Amino acid sequence: MYSNQLQVATEAVFVAMQITRSIQSEISGADTVTKSDRSPVTVADFASQALICGHLHSHFPSIPIVAEERSALLRETENFPLVTRILESVRNRGELGKIDGKDLLNLIDLGGSSPGDTFWTLDPIDGTKGFLRGEQFAIALALIDKGKVQIGILGCPNLTPGESEEPGGCLVTAVRGEGAWIESPSSRRRTQCHVSTMTEAKNMRFVESYVSAHSHSDLQLQVARELGIRGNPVRMDSQVKYAVVSSGRAEIYMRIPHPDTPDYKEKIWDHAAGSLIVTEAGGEVSDIEGRELDFTAGRILARNRGILATTNKMHKKVIRSIRMLEEKRLS
Ligand code: AMP
Ligand code: MG
Repeated sequence: MYSNQLQVATEAVFVAMQITRSIQSEISGADTVTKSDRSPVTVADFASQALICGHLHSHFPSIPIVAEERSALLRETENFPLVTRILESVRNRGELGKIDGKDLLNLIDLGGSSPGDTFWTLDPIDGTKGFLRGEQFAIALALIDKGKVQIGILGCPNLTPGESEEPGGCLVTAVRGEGAWIESPSSRRRTQCHVSTMTEAKNMRFVESYVSAHSHSDLQLQVARELGIRGNPVRMDSQVKYAVVSSGRAEIYMRIPHPDTPDYKEKIWDHAAGSLIVTEAGGEVSDIEGRELDFTAGRILARNRGILATTNKMHKKVIRSIRMLEEKRLS
């Protein structure tokens, strides 16, 4: 099922990977603006969103797209130079080759739909801060139908596909019920993803956000020690963490809300693709209290708290340990 949607969506993410990677290699301060929530957005976020929304809309005009970015900032006079820069980066890219500034802004705003019964959700660059540091970031696209993620695609331009050092990053895809697959965009070699089979807690690896304000790293370390894990966390930006767990390179991804933002609600585009990919690779994903991620509540995961993605074997143990340590902190 969904083979046409998967193919079209994968093509779009693949091209967006190439463009964003090339922008990343020469990014400058002039390519970035700050949004009202004080987070950065770059020409690459806009280029990726325009390209993917344009491609999806031309193939599936009736499926709404719920994407992270809006064109409003680019419509401000002082940001006009960014529009020129985005147009340069998408020039010669198939259907976007001949567009002008107005078309570009309209393509970006194709992502302004509200979640409905069936919709795409897109984070054109997840981990913009990592992108600006020259590190990990992901292009995350998912198709949600009646609250269930049916397709998940993560383009990870700076993550190797596995043991091999093939250039160009990797693309990880999943369709519900059909497994998760990792592909090297350079060789187009595709292999099935499986979560780790490691059984010894002491050797287990855990991943968490690079940005310390995005999760509770002290408590996460405490949980890891309680489980008997000896190593330190590997910190990385974006949904690349889900790609790492799905391909057996870490056993646990914890995202306990930071104590300064205890009521933070996760955005659907930050978790839809990754959560299906880990599940289809044989792992388990829920919030930190064990509740299934609920994609029926609009643009945010309003009914969930934090995120936990692990191998099957570890899931309940980690939830128990988080609960016990949170209760201890409160008492
Ligand atoms: P990561 O690199 O895994 O931390 O994920 C980056 C995402 O974190 C961004 O796309 C934001 O949507 C999200 N984010 C922003 N503020 C917070 C917060 N206070 N807690 C958790 N996530 C956040
Ligand atoms: Mg994001």
